[in-house]
Amino acid sequence: MEPNTEVSSYLVVNRVEVLDHAGCSACGRGFSSDPIGEKALVLTLGNSERTYFFCSSCGDNIVSRVESEDARKRYLWDWTVPLRNGHRPH
Ligand SMILES: [Zn+2]
Repeated sequence: MEPNTEVSSYLVVNRVEVLDHAGCSACGRGFSSDPIGEKALVLTLGNSERTYFFCSSCGDNIVSRVESEDARKRYLWDWTVPLRNGHRPH
């Protein structure tokens, strides 16, 4: 089975936001469980204030298709770091 260091959430480094069960909004793949984390594309839609996260391969694909500068401003490359379950009460 999987190692018992289950990842329950991810820290998004620059935005300092913790995600629960982060997955790519395009392909659904979960982000890396690697302790150093993974590059991820963050899309913020201003009016609804919804945020979408994309894995690096989907992000590259998306960014390459963005045509207008205005749309490009909504995208930000960031870094997700998995957080381990380290705060269980004894
Ligand atoms: Zn993806």
